[in-house]
Amino acid sequence: MSHETNTLTRKAYAKINLGLDVVRRLENGYHEVRMIMQTVGIHDVLTFKAAQSGIRITTDSGELPVGEDNLIYKAARLLTETGNVQEGVEIHLEKHIPIAAGMAGGSSDAAATLLGLNDLFSLGMSEERLRELGVRIGADVPYCIMGGTALAEGIGELLTPLPPAPPCVLLIAKPDIQVSTQYVYEHLDAAGVWQHPDIDGMRLAIENGDLSGVTARLGNVLETVTAERYPVIGQIKEEMLAQGALGSLMSGSGPTVFGIYREEKQARQARETLKRQGLARDLFVTYNV
Ligand code: ATP
Repeated sequence: MSHETNTLTRKAYAKINLGLDVVRRLENGYHEVRMIMQTVGIHDVLTFKAAQSGIRITTDSGELPVGEDNLIYKAARLLTETGNVQEGVEIHLEKHIPIAAGMAGGSSDAAATLLGLNDLFSLGMSEERLRELGVRIGADVPYCIMGGTALAEGIGELLTPLPPAPPCVLLIAKPDIQVSTQYVYEHLDAAGVWQHPDIDGMRLAIENGDLSGVTARLGNVLETVTAERYPVIGQIKEEMLAQGALGSLMSGSGPTVFGIYREEKQARQARETLKRQGLARDLFVTYNV
């Protein structure tokens, strides 16, 4: 098959954080973190097609830039320059992951672009090399390349794969506000955080397949900033628990909240209640994958 007709499709999965701790603020403005990452079943779809020259992005999302500001563009440029690719590429993004939500949607698109173009142009770069390139685009990109359940340390790029978290049903709710990750980290008083989530205990619970051990240790220090500013986050958490969730937490820098359920029926009922109460517009019942 010639490159002109060569197309390739990849899914880009969203993540949630089962645990997110900030150890300290670094001199360069980044934060040292310890996070338990988990891929979930919500995904974008990216289609890549070789073209004569340039990088062209199209998308069904009315909210995203399609030029150099799109993380897909950054990833495509970095990979084609590093791999000395002479051809161009057309990329179409079908967006499903909520934007600016704390679910790494942009990072996951960037990861899928690195993986997809490495295949499309037969560059033969190792996953490790792609992860090294990925961190230049964003701290969550290396994890998005790896996927699954993992401990992420450093600024998020030091990854330890963990066994799959115990199977459960997830209700994911994104209230109708957008939160910038940068804003949240800038407003975090890292030295003043007095309650740190038990990341090591969470890791052990996952290794032991202990779902109630996992739900007992859900914790995210960024809630001190985002949930403080947006009370709807606390309201969603409370409602999820009232509707039978084993645990509930804000993901990443928010505002997305997830609830962990044993039964799909309960999660679906809770979804209807949240919808009726107008607490969130984007609601998904899904799984850890
Ligand atoms: P994270 O959990 O990594 O902080 P997030 O869910 O909070 O991610 P994203 O949706 O990844 O946030 O991206 C937020 C910002 O990045 C938005 O302002 C958006 O305009 C910009 N952006 C650039 N490219 C993309 C993309 N392909 N998908 C989503 N957002 C993108």
